[in-house]
Amino acid sequence: MIIGICAEAERKIMSNNSLIYLDYAATTPVAAEVIAAAMPYFGASFYNPSSLHMMGQMSSMSLRQARRKCLSAINGHDSGNIIFTSGGTEAINQAIKCSYVKSGEHIVISAIEHDAVFACAEKMKERGVIVDVVDPTANGIIEPSELKKVMCPQTKLVCVMLVNNIVGTIQPIKVLAEVAHEYGALFFTDAVQAVNSIDINVKDLNVDMLCVSGHKFYAPKGSGFLYVKNGVQLGSFIDGGSQESGLRGGTVDVPSAMALATAITMAQNNVEQYNEKILEVTNAFVAALNCGEVIAKNSNKSNDILSIAFDGVNGGRLAVALSVAGVCCSVGSACSAGSAVPPQTLLAMRVKNAESCVRFSFGSPVTVKQAIEAAETVNETVAKLKSSSDNGSEGNK
Ligand code: PLP
Repeated sequence: MIIGICAEAERKIMSNNSLIYLDYAATTPVAAEVIAAAMPYFGASFYNPSSLHMMGQMSSMSLRQARRKCLSAINGHDSGNIIFTSGGTEAINQAIKCSYVKSGEHIVISAIEHDAVFACAEKMKERGVIVDVVDPTANGIIEPSELKKVMCPQTKLVCVMLVNNIVGTIQPIKVLAEVAHEYGALFFTDAVQAVNSIDINVKDLNVDMLCVSGHKFYAPKGSGFLYVKNGVQLGSFIDGGSQESGLRGGTVDVPSAMALATAITMAQNNVEQYNEKILEVTNAFVAALNCGEVIAKNSNKSNDILSIAFDGVNGGRLAVALSVAGVCCSVGSACSAGSAVPPQTLLAMRVKNAESCVRFSFGSPVTVKQAIEAAETVNETVAKLKSSSDNGSEGNK
């Protein structure tokens, strides 16, 4: 079946019958300006930033500039450090597993985090750390009052993401961080889905750690960083040389760092225009749909991520059928795409028809025309699936 879909998709691409890509939360293309910023560091400026000679030191200077640009983009220029990582998953691993939380101590995560947070929390449990999980409201928001209920003097770390990757809800990070700090705990936020749509200010949010992933904002896959506030004690994630202040050994990927610094600066300078454009496109998309219900539509949310429930149709089947029809979307995060279980976020929100949900996520290249065309394809595909005897909707009507 998968081979069939790929062949069909390939035929469409080859025949120039363009697919409409609505899966920008899974990944984005690399912007031309970002490629241009990285290019010299593959060629003429290829040097190792740890080398003592002049060329190495020039590379090191560029790396310092990239670090400053990243810090400045999140308003942390005088308040902390940037550790370049291979992306969001690695940064999450470092923030949680290298945070010096000991056996018998306590950490809190939200029930709507990325799989990487759940996996790290499991590892912490194996070390004897006690883990509590805070459920969201039915609207996908982590309420500070719910966090307060599980906080205790042993709590050392609280993790709540900034923008949810399934439904797009924006969490009240500043207040949640305040609660964590009242108990003397550190606060870490995963801002992987926030960079395009939120003006990120680590000082205002008052977070101790924050991570981003380049491939979500038009930088290459395999790039990202963990921001760490001055004074936060963190252990090394990769043991080796003294790169990244001794917290991540290994020769630094300078082209990726240059790309990341350019992409995050561009994204953060463009938040207002991005949100305006995305709102216009998603409004057109939703208006052209004659079926489906947007999850958490009345919450404080980022408009670029829409999970929509299509009652009476299985979300996985619908996503596959849409791919064949020329619309690329997903049922959840790309990291758990093979799972038959609906995304944890929807389960935690107790969405009744979670199995019938599909995630559409939008990016700067999507036009209003494409959004309307995609919505029309969704209408036709849902109607076809509903009229076929085998629509895969058993148990989720
Ligand atoms: N956190 C969130 C909210 C995500 O959406 C993702 C990726 O989808 C990640 C973390 C993982 O990031 P990466 O793909 O860079 O490892």
